[in-house]
Amino acid sequence: MSQIRNFCIIAHIDHGKSTLADRLLERTGAITEREMHEQILDDMDLERERGITIKSHAIQMDYERPGGEHVTFNLIDTPGHVDFAYEVSRALKACEGALVVVDAAQGIEAQTISTLYQAIEQDLEIVPVLNKIDLPGADPEGVGQQIVDLIGCDHEDILHVSAKTGEGIDELLEAVVERIPGPARNTDKPLRALIFDSVFNTYRGSIVYVRVMEGTLHQGDGIRFMATQKEYDAEEIGHLKLKQVQTDTLEAGDVGYVIGSVKSLQDARVGDTLTRTDNPADEPIPGYQEPKPMVFSGLFPTQSDEFEDLRSALEKLQLNDASLTYQPETSKALGFGFRAGFLGMLHMEIVQERLDREFDIDIITTVPNVEYEVHITEKNEQKKVIVDNPSEMPDPSKVDAVYEPYIQASIITPSDYIGPVMKLCEEKRGKYVNQIHMQSQRVDITYELPMAEVVFDFYDRLKSGTRGYASLDYEFLEYRQGDLVRLDILLNGDPVDALSSIIHRDKAYDLGRKLCKKLKELISQHQFEIPIQAAIGSQVIARETIRAIRKDVTAKCYGGDISRKRKLLEKQKEGKKRMKQVGTVEVPQEAFLAVLSMD
Ligand code: GDP
Ligand code: MG
Repeated sequence: MSQIRNFCIIAHIDHGKSTLADRLLERTGAITEREMHEQILDDMDLERERGITIKSHAIQMDYERPGGEHVTFNLIDTPGHVDFAYEVSRALKACEGALVVVDAAQGIEAQTISTLYQAIEQDLEIVPVLNKIDLPGADPEGVGQQIVDLIGCDHEDILHVSAKTGEGIDELLEAVVERIPGPARNTDKPLRALIFDSVFNTYRGSIVYVRVMEGTLHQGDGIRFMATQKEYDAEEIGHLKLKQVQTDTLEAGDVGYVIGSVKSLQDARVGDTLTRTDNPADEPIPGYQEPKPMVFSGLFPTQSDEFEDLRSALEKLQLNDASLTYQPETSKALGFGFRAGFLGMLHMEIVQERLDREFDIDIITTVPNVEYEVHITEKNEQKKVIVDNPSEMPDPSKVDAVYEPYIQASIITPSDYIGPVMKLCEEKRGKYVNQIHMQSQRVDITYELPMAEVVFDFYDRLKSGTRGYASLDYEFLEYRQGDLVRLDILLNGDPVDALSSIIHRDKAYDLGRKLCKKLKELISQHQFEIPIQAAIGSQVIARETIRAIRKDVTAKCYGGDISRKRKLLEKQKEGKKRMKQVGTVEVPQEAFLAVLSMD
């Protein structure tokens, strides 16, 4: 049996994961110079533009050691964002080792630490790598000490490389073979293959990427997804080189793909276990979880006749993205649309951007919110309801208590910015836990924060307050009671459901005032006066007024130039498209996100 090494690269964004992967592919001859275009693993446009890896992929390399011995490498790529933490954990499970790559000029970041801890928990062999040693600003001593403090390794264990110049790559390849153990090869047991990723192909159905933990899979075998109990045939199996390469068998230790006309990604979920129908395993690989949406937002077509188009777009997106959830929602202000659930803010942005790019549907999205647990008394009966839409928050008179999700956030920042970071966290109702000072003037600050405050504008403000130097990582903690109320906005006396938000009572007055002011800026004058009010229940807490005007755009052209007149009219029509009629008032699309654009 040939030797195998299954490993992944853990790195903070921009520390050089993709560049390093490219170097490994190049040195092992997995790709020729001609095929080599930069950062081959990031193959989705959106990822490339944002410089992040959204989905995990795997790639096989054939490494020839200096003595001539051949070793098969499977490099499993992990997503680099906290929204996809569960997928990361399953990708780690498919490996025996991890290269922990740290930028020698930047030092360790929050995301790296949390993923590293997961890898250690899962017993992976950690190979610490200092990257970018070619940079004049590199501090291999200081950052090396950070690594030593964190992992408890020796300085000599740290590999010094430059993924850019190729320095140290040969040593790194050897370290992979020498330090990372090969996988167990229990080929006789019943099949258990871990699905660490899946992609949807219009012609072939779901293609699942698996790591065979135990047993053997042959082409043509009957297969079963243990969580969903769905059964198919393994029509095609193979290895993941730059392209898919068919084989007859995949056995314990191998990484590969399975195609079986699986109709939807819902059947073949990341984290599930694949087994054979003729000799099934008793137990799946532990740790399977259903994706849990954490952030919710309304999606409405600007043109109401595009509702069905939006539905079919969401259906198509869901084929590719099993963690996207949605259900129909009706808004008095925005009409028919959907309430969608996302893993986090980045996931939400990705979905919104894809709807825009791939389906060309103009949509209005409402301000994101989290999910609340609301205890109510109705007709003398106590109940608990789950609210993921502010407009569905029960009337204040019925509400006994509201519980909101809390996260534990870890923020790593240069010590110069401790002040601004703590100020931000306090403002966001954070509860200070502790801070740990690291080498090279950096601190790891821990806070407990209401998740609702973090989905707002936390990340942007953290970045701007620290000139981009701070990094954030978080995990869900628990639900806690809070003095939360629903803040409504009324235009011309009519409540606009899509503008309602759930907020802490102490902040409601301030938000109400600012929202009214912002909406006054965003909504243009009409031929009648428009009062804008903010209210909690029946109590109005803020008010602005848009004065009436009479406006005729074409009047300026005094008859003469007809084509110019037409242009103006067309422009006006164009502008109208992005408007939504709410009662008697025309509201521009950006008004529904006004909360996000306030300072
Ligand atoms: P990723 O986000 O971790 O995948 O990081 P990338 O591989 O995209 O690298 C981020 C940036 O750092 C890119 O501009 C790379 O060219 C650069 N980079 C990566 N490795 C090195 C290195 O060893 N030295 C230098 N000077 N730059 C590097
Ligand atoms: Mg990358």
